[in-house]
Amino acid sequence: MATISQQAYGDFLAAVKTNRVTKVIISPSRIEYTVNSENSTETYFAIPDLLAESLPELLAANSVEYTIQNPPSDSWLGTLLAVVLPPLVAVGAGALLLKYTEGSGGGVMGVGKSKAKTYAQGKTGVKFADVAGIDEAKQELQEVVDFLKNSDKYTRLGAKIPKGVLLVGPPGTGKTLLAKAVAGEAGVPFFSMSGSEFVELYVGVGASRVRDLFEKAKRQAPCIIFIDELDAIGKSRGNGMNPNGGNDEREQTLNQLLTEMDGFDGNTGVILIAATNRPEVLDPALRRPGRFDRQVVVDRPDRSGRAQILTVHANKVKLGEDVDLELLATRTSGLTGADLANFVNEAALMAARNNRQAVLMADFEVAFERVLVGLEKRSRVLNPIERQTVAYHEVGHALVGALMTGRGKVEKISIVPRGVGALGYTLQMPEEDRFLMMEDEIRGQIATLLGGRAAESVVFGKVSTGASDDIQKATNLAEKAITLYGMSDTLGPIAFAGNQSQFLEGDTNPRRAVSGDVAIEIDRLIKQTIDGANSMAQAILAQNRELLESTTQILLDREVLEGDSLRAILSQVQAPVELADWLQTGKA
Ligand code: ADP
Ligand code: MG
Ligand code: ZN
Repeated sequence: MATISQQAYGDFLAAVKTNRVTKVIISPSRIEYTVNSENSTETYFAIPDLLAESLPELLAANSVEYTIQNPPSDSWLGTLLAVVLPPLVAVGAGALLLKYTEGSGGGVMGVGKSKAKTYAQGKTGVKFADVAGIDEAKQELQEVVDFLKNSDKYTRLGAKIPKGVLLVGPPGTGKTLLAKAVAGEAGVPFFSMSGSEFVELYVGVGASRVRDLFEKAKRQAPCIIFIDELDAIGKSRGNGMNPNGGNDEREQTLNQLLTEMDGFDGNTGVILIAATNRPEVLDPALRRPGRFDRQVVVDRPDRSGRAQILTVHANKVKLGEDVDLELLATRTSGLTGADLANFVNEAALMAARNNRQAVLMADFEVAFERVLVGLEKRSRVLNPIERQTVAYHEVGHALVGALMTGRGKVEKISIVPRGVGALGYTLQMPEEDRFLMMEDEIRGQIATLLGGRAAESVVFGKVSTGASDDIQKATNLAEKAITLYGMSDTLGPIAFAGNQSQFLEGDTNPRRAVSGDVAIEIDRLIKQTIDGANSMAQAILAQNRELLESTTQILLDREVLEGDSLRAILSQVQAPVELADWLQTGKA
């Protein structure tokens, strides 16, 4: 063969992209390739550029045949060669691939490379202004942006930059959007990968992908690594649920992730953001200090949040004069940001179909129905009566709870539906860590639990199915008081139930074998406790009926009540005369 001449690597790439290259041989120091022109075939070589775009992807995309010669084990070219095997190879030649890998000592090649989508500096195209209605989450992440932009300000003072932020919330609330916005605001590269993309068929692949991802990211620090669906790799290890000994691949991937997170010093400027909608399944190791020690809740938006989100998305379409976004926000309770984006888009499609100049309220009406039909399955959108019932119920908990001691203050009431099951909630925060509960506090807690149902019965004269969880908890507490804590006059301090494992919080304890008479007495006492608490809850709400009404109206309007305005309301609750006695003795 005649001597072959050198070409710039860029020319080589250009030739590949214009489909002129037919064959490529990659060796440690150079790339040899054949170019077909009209009537001749020329061979050239080029020196590979380490920072160049990923070669195999490019070659595969252009259907160019290529060969690798002499893979070195640890030269700089290892980096290049490692990416040469396209994922396709893995399908037919798994065994071969693994063997090959061992020989080259470079980790699982090709398949082990992370497939992270990389966005260059500030190019995610998303800014905080695009994320609406989740202001608290935005505020928390504002700090991360500041770290990334002015990291020396923090390192100079010796402050440790957070390594991991975990975004927790239901699907469609804007977690991915928020992570992108952080990168966009800070103007740093954004590496994005989904948890499920790490884990594949072969054991070890996921771990190697994690390693690769961190390596890439560290080279481009400051930057953000975003791992979506963290639960796909971060599920709790060895919980004994899996009789086959768990999922090796996932565990290895998780271990590698933990190792990487421990391995880099807080000040390298790589910040990990992960998202999940199932925080409860995550391995506790992920939440240790130095890992995902910051957790940011990205929740469904309340009414004003929805109005802001609608505004952001409506800005992209032409709105008619008659469109009232505030009204639409009021009617879309329970919808997430993604639902709302979809809603606006449906309305715009409707308008286009009707050949309108702008999107009118009538289009939103039709779109609303379409979106609702799509959402019905998820059973999140309440009809007005249900919504009202939920509001009375939650206010009932709050008003009764306001008079009880010990269990902490009611901090927040919300009727923003949260997925199946929780239509609304009342948040009670302990004022301090408590390890003991007094008798009267248990009574108060039981009454508070029954307060929701009591409100329904006081207002409507009938109750809904919404109280089952409350009833369960109240009954368990009453049972424990009698069978475990010895808090009854007739049975006394005798244990009628076995103790539970020290570390597992459970609701029920196994009953000891007891005589029939004792069993009857236990049941009678449980019923007596519950009945007493229930009457007390009803008495409280009957006495504070006006407050119950007005608070419910406010809650229906604002959807969330908290802070000073809630405290002001709760301080107005009046106690029935018999309350103090009942709390002391359990007798009315
Ligand atoms: P998640 O990651 O929480 O499932 P995404 O970030 O993927 O949700 O949201 C999907 C889309 O829904 C976004 O691209 C955006 O168009 C819209 N969206 C979701 N939340 C918001 C929000 N808070 N503000 C504006 N748009 C939002
Ligand atoms: Mg997402
Ligand atoms: Zn309840």
